[in-house]
Amino acid sequence: MHPSATALRLAVCATLMLAAPLRAEPANTAPPAAATKTAVLPGDDFFDYVNGDWLNSVEIPADRSGWGVGNALIEDTNQRLLKLIEAMAAQPTDAEAKKIADFYASFMDEAGIEAKGLAPLQPLLQQIAAIRDKGELARALGGTLRADVDPLNATNFFTENLFGLWIAQGLKDAEHYTPYLLQGGLGMPDRAYYLDNTPAMKKLRGQYQAHIAATFKLAGIADADARAARVFELERRIAMAHASREVSSDVLKANNNWSAADFARKAPGLDWKAFFASAGLGEQKKFIVWHPGAVVGAARLVQSAPLETWKDFLAFHSVNHVSSALPKALAEQHFDFYGRTLNGTPEQSLRWKRSLNAVNMAMPDALGKVYVAKYFPPESKQRLQQMVAKIVDAFHARIDQLAWMAPATKLEAHAKLKTLYVGIGYPDKWASYEQLAVTPDDALGNLLRAERVHTQQQLAKLKQPVDRGEWCMPAQLVNAVNMPMQNAINFPAAILQAPYFDPQASDAVNYGSIGATIGHEISHSFDDQGAQFDSRGLLRDWWTAADGKHFKRASAALAAQYSAYKPFPDLAINGQQTLSENLADLAGLAASHDAYRATLAKPSATAEADQQFFIGYAMSWREKAREAALRRAILTDGHAPDKWRTATVRNMDAWYQAFNVQPGQTLYLAPKDRVRVW
Ligand SMILES: [Zn+2]
Repeated sequence: MHPSATALRLAVCATLMLAAPLRAEPANTAPPAAATKTAVLPGDDFFDYVNGDWLNSVEIPADRSGWGVGNALIEDTNQRLLKLIEAMAAQPTDAEAKKIADFYASFMDEAGIEAKGLAPLQPLLQQIAAIRDKGELARALGGTLRADVDPLNATNFFTENLFGLWIAQGLKDAEHYTPYLLQGGLGMPDRAYYLDNTPAMKKLRGQYQAHIAATFKLAGIADADARAARVFELERRIAMAHASREVSSDVLKANNNWSAADFARKAPGLDWKAFFASAGLGEQKKFIVWHPGAVVGAARLVQSAPLETWKDFLAFHSVNHVSSALPKALAEQHFDFYGRTLNGTPEQSLRWKRSLNAVNMAMPDALGKVYVAKYFPPESKQRLQQMVAKIVDAFHARIDQLAWMAPATKLEAHAKLKTLYVGIGYPDKWASYEQLAVTPDDALGNLLRAERVHTQQQLAKLKQPVDRGEWCMPAQLVNAVNMPMQNAINFPAAILQAPYFDPQASDAVNYGSIGATIGHEISHSFDDQGAQFDSRGLLRDWWTAADGKHFKRASAALAAQYSAYKPFPDLAINGQQTLSENLADLAGLAASHDAYRATLAKPSATAEADQQFFIGYAMSWREKAREAALRRAILTDGHAPDKWRTATVRNMDAWYQAFNVQPGQTLYLAPKDRVRVW
């Protein structure tokens, strides 16, 4: 799944935003044996061989930047959530149900929002207009800080506030929560959008500046074009100090421990004392600065750029960020740039879906609790827990069989598997929304209050013990995640249902689809990021030098394999940027295949079952994306596009046997060239 315009717009729950989806469009696993009837050979293009008929028959809906079979699952889940909300509106069972219903109603009240016009924005804009000097600017910037990023679990690096905040245990301290400061302040997804000199990027820059100007005009702010030019130029300078997506992913570059006093010395230009006091971090002594270069650069710009430019920056982002709660003209302008231009999506999604999205962002656990009670049966939980146990066994066995790994390393790997927390369906503890005031006629206020409450809850963790059972995804999200510092995995209930996980389906199908996904997530505990965290979640290299050397050699081959794929003549996949996910795909597929074979009574009778396993795998990736969205994903996403993720089957010996793949075919790799990491 690619970060959507919606995700860029809302920043209520860091964990909900831009969650790094291992597989956005999950499997339609039935009927597994029905490969396409095109002339494509499995060895030439396995994705097309399995999915060709589907690809020819499906059109991307107008309000989407892409479409995969699992979109149906997301649609079903949304319909279910809508019905639950409507039932709560008709008859609220408790205070929380009423809040859900009121929050939803406030976003559905299109007429009310139109009638109020720009009035709800005025207090925000007046506060910004009243800023008199750089000291007050520092306080205002601190006031925008929200817990809206997550560099490790959800790999969400995007915030249009000047900085992003993440509260998690320390990289070298598993006992205490620490605030992490990340780069931010860009309205476009990444520094590359500001700095790359391709014609496509240059064009986007012009369109973005036009969007800023249009937003100013619609918000009733004079001199829109000149202001837009200044805001864009400021962002361009912020972008110059930003780390690339690749550097952001390197956790070894992130453990920069700064005391509160360090900021003034290391990043002069911003009144940090005022900034942190206003951000609710005035008492905090220790920080981790994930992006020191960007923090230094932004602070310098606070000093050097004119106050008026910064006020324009704040005004634009204050409006841009909350467009979902504003009158139609502003919401449409926002969609025109973030949806149409940036993602190639022709039409905005329906209002009820956007309103549901707003509730999901604001009160994820409240809605998740209700969803799970109705739609996640205990039998599903049980069967999945059994599958997890089998796949964990497969990893234990694979570790034992590795010739290259040192005995001491194997011990820690086993320990890590044993302490791994695998959450199935939903968390043991739900978040509380007692502190959140919700009224049915104040969409903007509800949104802003929800963001503040979420950030306050995250800040409150600084005084609490670390909880490894904390979830970072809501139960109603079609997704899954590995959390390396917690040594934990979440499989939300919404992904654990037919057709993705089908209690009626064969093991071959379920292991090929959800099993490979489970394996994918478990393997993140051992991939190039996970290998950096030990069984307690501490950033510690638990491999020997020789282990690391082999792993690097093996993963370099996979990076090269992916860098050779060219989805467009002028754009190749970045094998380094997508390495973690590609490794996880390969390891997950291999371990799930082992686990599935272990369920067979007669291990010799595997040819047809193997076909089903791999076809189920390839079907789980079927997706069509618009060119703009695909290009954007290739540049910014840690995942390769689904078609090329499917191609990892070429590294599995069993796939060659199941489909009689021969030398000379496009995907054929000589046995020595097949990548084997685990
Ligand atoms: Zn992954």
